[in-house]
Amino acid sequence: MDPKAVHGFVGNKLSFSEVTPRDGIRMAAEMAPEDVVAIIGASGLRGRGGAGFPTGKKWEFARGQEGSPKYIICNADEGEPGTFKDRLILTDFPELVFAGMAIAGRAVGAEFGILYLRAEYGWLREHLDAALERCRVANTLGNNILGASDFSFDISIRMGSGAYVCGEETALLESLEGRRGDARNRIPFPVQAGYLGKPTVVNNVETLAWVPCIMVKGPSWFAAMGTRKAPGAWLFCVSGDCKRPGIYEYPFGTSLRQILSDVGAENAKAVQVGGASGTCVPPAQFDRTMTPGDLATGGSIIVFGPGQDMFAVAENFQHFFCDESCGQCIPCRLGNQRMLEAIGRMRKDGLTVDGERNVRQLAQTMTVASKCGLGQMSARAFLSILNNFSGELPGHV
Ligand code: NAD
Repeated sequence: MDPKAVHGFVGNKLSFSEVTPRDGIRMAAEMAPEDVVAIIGASGLRGRGGAGFPTGKKWEFARGQEGSPKYIICNADEGEPGTFKDRLILTDFPELVFAGMAIAGRAVGAEFGILYLRAEYGWLREHLDAALERCRVANTLGNNILGASDFSFDISIRMGSGAYVCGEETALLESLEGRRGDARNRIPFPVQAGYLGKPTVVNNVETLAWVPCIMVKGPSWFAAMGTRKAPGAWLFCVSGDCKRPGIYEYPFGTSLRQILSDVGAENAKAVQVGGASGTCVPPAQFDRTMTPGDLATGGSIIVFGPGQDMFAVAENFQHFFCDESCGQCIPCRLGNQRMLEAIGRMRKDGLTVDGERNVRQLAQTMTVASKCGLGQMSARAFLSILNNFSGELPGHV
């Protein structure tokens, strides 16, 4: 198989390079806002931050809200270990992302957008500000965009401060409002009460970059790339023990085995799909497909070769979650620490029946009782490693 694009390794181009952002904005400017929502809904586009919520539905909810003003927020706080696609998109296609935000604004009735940029991507700030200025000069941002008297939209950039949890949308909103990045309770969802308590759409960078492409090429072009249940294509960040790491564009429904073959990782002993908060998959499951219904992914694939100690990998991920837990809720703050200690004991002394039962109970408590996605997801990698690689623990028979 010839993947659609491999950044930096094969000369192919991503779909993003086939579209002029201005064309997408022009189409939106000439349409009724509800038709823009309908087009995105018909394409089947789902959120690319990892959770895969239907974008058209989110916009429809926001459009139906009474409050004003409304806001569009681009979540560029890409912090999941192994995930670096948003960085590429912001570097190579910033105007596509801004066009996606403006089109979202047109669709839901918002005139102001904020791009929340990960602190570690601070070096991109100047580049993004320059791109914003080009958009204003070209009148693809600003007042009466491309001559449409009822279409005004502008964007400002705000910096994160280096906290993983601020990639969680409600912690991001707290941070934007000048407070500590603690997750809020949902309900209400941001589309109901988000930034400054107003209806707010929070979309991931990649989600927004697909929007002008769908406007220009049509929803059926997008849908035809994937499967009936999972339309579209996705950017995958591949790293770890493989010959050709990088960013690849694949249609949904592509098997993990296919991707491993393309990146030169046929001898992989495990693959972490979806970053540290994702699932670790053994070779017996390499025929599973990349779809929200099977192997959901925030776009990252970390390959582990035959020499890797999978419980050292689990311990490494667990250190990350201990460092990044905001400490607000006990299941996440203490649960992650207890989990880290349990993994350390397992690596030293092996697994006892009681130890396994306790750690599985702890994982379940964290999953159901943590306040936000950080604590709810952080046991996932460890549990999948325990389920598939317990033979690597000392004393295992
Ligand atoms: P979620 O499923 O709770 O929500 C997804 C989106 O849909 C949110 O924007 C939410 O507001 C919206 N939504 C859900 N139900 C809704 C409703 N009934 N009405 C209106 N809007 C609704 O997921 P989440 O907790 O926001 O995100 C978890 C995901 O983030 C995980 O898949 C995780 O892997 C991923 N993640 C990604 C990164 C990264 O760097 N990209 C980092 C950490 C985690």
